Amino acid sequence: MLVENVALHVPSMEELAEVVGVGLKKNYKEWSCSVVDCPDLSKAPFGLASNGICGRTRLVDVGGVPNLVPVSQYMEKVYNLQDISERVGTPGCFILGAGAGSKHVVGCNCELMPNFRCEGGERERVNLCHVARVKSDGGYLLQNYENDHGSSSEFSLLANLFCSDGKQGKVLEVRGKCRIGEKDLVGCMRGALKEHFGPNRPIGMGGTFLVNKGKIKIHVMPDFSETPLTSDNDVNNWLKFYEVTSPFMCLSTFITEDCGLDLRVEHTHGYNANSGVGGHYHYDVTPDEVEYIGYFTPAEFIYRVDRPSTTHNIGRD
Ligand SMILES: [Zn+2]
Repeated sequence: MLVENVALHVPSMEELAEVVGVGLKKNYKEWSCSVVDCPDLSKAPFGLASNGICGRTRLVDVGGVPNLVPVSQYMEKVYNLQDISERVGTPGCFILGAGAGSKHVVGCNCELMPNFRCEGGERERVNLCHVARVKSDGGYLLQNYENDHGSSSEFSLLANLFCSDGKQGKVLEVRGKCRIGEKDLVGCMRGALKEHFGPNRPIGMGGTFLVNKGKIKIHVMPDFSETPLTSDNDVNNWLKFYEVTSPFMCLSTFITEDCGLDLRVEHTHGYNANSGVGGHYHYDVTPDEVEYIGYFTPAEFIYRVDRPSTTHNIGRD
């Protein structure tokens, strides 16, 4: 399996906070961005499999949408979070992000919310991965890998992951309330960083954010399409879209540049185990009410694992 990597530009946390603040200011009536000590993110409402997101940080883009569109290659494209941690040189790491659950494990194609402390070194495995799957009545079901699927750590087709030692340390605390711009939270942060640092200083980030108030639009992938999906329109007609209410905890990765690696430049999934909702985050649908609080940290490297040999830009939104 081909594994490539590129070192990313890692500015000071203070500079990151200043630049992200420029983006937040354009998008939210009330906002703040500051460098803080990472709170214990293993506690509610975040509930991560580790208490922090710092130490040996890496973004990892595995597979890609070309493994799903136009036709699924799920029989061949099977991956494992534990194996990925070793391939990127950080055994025992904490992994969060967005991907496709394994049909071999779950029984149908589904959304994966990776939230996983890998085994390795002195670390014990903690599996808080969740999946959202579409039901035959058109609704969907949130399940977890630990209790519902034999503590699997398998996924298929694609994933955008953020790996770290899962330690505490300095992080960016991002707040936004009452949206006045057109962008979602991740898009507004990414846009400001891209504009400031430009193509030669790629910035990658990962972390978690909570939609604390308001409603958001999400999608959940149904089982594989019987007909090939050959356009964004086909993909959107196949996906199932839902509106969900807050609170909603998101696991997020983004990068400002493609780095010649054929990347998906932003990808965020989330869930709320108490209300049984989960899926792929798009944006909020209640600009006046929406309120976000998030914690992010920069990645030192982008790793590209098993990039598809033929590629296209369909379905990457
Ligand atoms: Zn997704």
